[in-house]
Amino acid sequence: MRPHLGTIALAVMWMLVLAAATVAVAHMLKPAIDGIVVGSDPQALWGIGLGILLAFAVKAVSNFFSVVLVAKAGLAAVSDARNRLYRHLSEMDLGFFLAHSASALAARFTVDLHLLRLAVSNGLTSLGRDLMTLIGLVAYTFWVDWQMALLAYIALPLAIWPVARLGRRIRRIAGRTQRDLGSLNAQLTQTLRGIRMVKIYGAEEMERARVHRLIAAVQTQSFKAEWTRALVTPIMEGVVGLAAGAALYYGGARVLAGEVTPGDLTAFLGAVMLAYQPAKRLANLHTILQEGLAAADRMYHLLDLKPAVAEAPGAPPLRPGPGTVRFDDVTFAYDGGPGPELGDDASGPAAAPPALRGVDLTLEAGTVVALVGPSGAGKSTLMNLIPRLHDPQRGRVLIDGQDVRAVSFASLWARIGLVSQDVVVFDDTVRANIAYGRPEASAEEVERAARRAAAHDFIAALPDGYDTRLGEQGVRLSGGQRQRLCIARAFLKDAPILLLDEPTAALDTESERLVQSALAALMAGRTCLIIAHRLSTIAGADVIHVMAEGAVVESGDHAGLLAKDGLYARLHAANRLGA
Ligand code: ADP
Repeated sequence: MRPHLGTIALAVMWMLVLAAATVAVAHMLKPAIDGIVVGSDPQALWGIGLGILLAFAVKAVSNFFSVVLVAKAGLAAVSDARNRLYRHLSEMDLGFFLAHSASALAARFTVDLHLLRLAVSNGLTSLGRDLMTLIGLVAYTFWVDWQMALLAYIALPLAIWPVARLGRRIRRIAGRTQRDLGSLNAQLTQTLRGIRMVKIYGAEEMERARVHRLIAAVQTQSFKAEWTRALVTPIMEGVVGLAAGAALYYGGARVLAGEVTPGDLTAFLGAVMLAYQPAKRLANLHTILQEGLAAADRMYHLLDLKPAVAEAPGAPPLRPGPGTVRFDDVTFAYDGGPGPELGDDASGPAAAPPALRGVDLTLEAGTVVALVGPSGAGKSTLMNLIPRLHDPQRGRVLIDGQDVRAVSFASLWARIGLVSQDVVVFDDTVRANIAYGRPEASAEEVERAARRAAAHDFIAALPDGYDTRLGEQGVRLSGGQRQRLCIARAFLKDAPILLLDEPTAALDTESERLVQSALAALMAGRTCLIIAHRLSTIAGADVIHVMAEGAVVESGDHAGLLAKDGLYARLHAANRLGA
């Protein structure tokens, strides 16, 4: 909130005006009533009527400005927090994202920051406007008649205990509601994304039942919160009734005895009634603040997480070289990966066996190196170490003799291209998708890259050519088309080191042929590490490394490895190369 103190100060000023105007309203009841009852001066009633009108006008204007200014500061603070959170998340390492679901992270931005804003806005408004108004009104009643005031407020402590108890209950329920909403969110994301599986396996009914159960749980919890909250008002009303009744009884006697005027009593009762709303809001403030604090807690927990992979301070850029990559006795385990609890979905294995054990491997510049081996052997993990999506616990990864941990991220990533099986198409034009990460690329460069990726023809046939929108709201591409788009992206980036993660695994034979030739063109002259699936790709590699259980167990070319009659030969015979 600190950067918005100016706005808040202005809001507080309006709140002071509001509090003063509210007290003025109560005070004006005195001359009004006395004027009527004593019947002294009917002309004076005009002035009093106008005065009350004016006080209400001031109240209205100051209320408007204080609410608007608080909202302005609150929204700005929430946007700051969202930006800060996003910046922080984008700096986290891959291990963090593997351990936390995207929907839970998104909820931090939406649900939690909304709760935080409510807490900030209501907190400021209540503490400023309501507290000042309340203090003003209570002070006024004491000023009118302190004995009557004491009597009126004697019942007040009666309300504090039950209201505080209800507040605690609401907070507990709110925590459970949050958790249930999180489960619902995760469940929705999962089934809607996997709708094909759901349908084909005939699991709609089962999933429907599961979602209905979660929706019912959210409803039950929310209803509990609502009725608990609804209890606060009657309790407060009861106390105000007691206060007004006691004051009226005692005050009425004093009026009859001629000790105070009827106007005093009316002004007093007016002040007590006017105090009701702010007092009620202050009573509710507690729960809103609690919800906001819980949300802030979750947000700061995220902000406090340190990325497991961080840029060395003042790291120099990677010096360009031919693109030799060396793994030097690299050991990596995922233990350190999953972060501490984050809401509902942080469940990581406690202590995993190392995914890589002392891997020594050199990728000569400009060669194609294939990784094969059974699933879980550590191929993806090894590949992810080059762009520092993880850092090894032991050993080093060197590019042209430089430890990747010692150089700047930007220079490291500028040297690496990626073509993976799951192509990410962003909600943007074809052109922007190809020029991803290089928005300054010219139209000619983009088109040249697309031609080399055998993508130009299908792009030209799209409704708006290179300006066609892709993604959620736009045109859908076929698997092969998406793959060629991604290859064009890599062509444009023109990085000397290329990571290929089973790029053709999900394609049929026809699109594979097109993609394959585009890939071959892309790979020429670069250092390529490819997790390969198809024999055609594997056999075309300069070197094949066979991995098993986190280690490289065999190396060589296709013919040599077959002749060895080891794991490679067995996988080949079983038709399970790279599976
Ligand atoms: P491959 O690519 O050869 O199939 P991976 O590199 O994906 O193998 O996995 C290597 C090992 O690391 C496997 O035992 C796998 O279970 C484990 N592993 C992979 N990803 C994670 C993760 N996010 N958290 C914990 N363990 C993981």
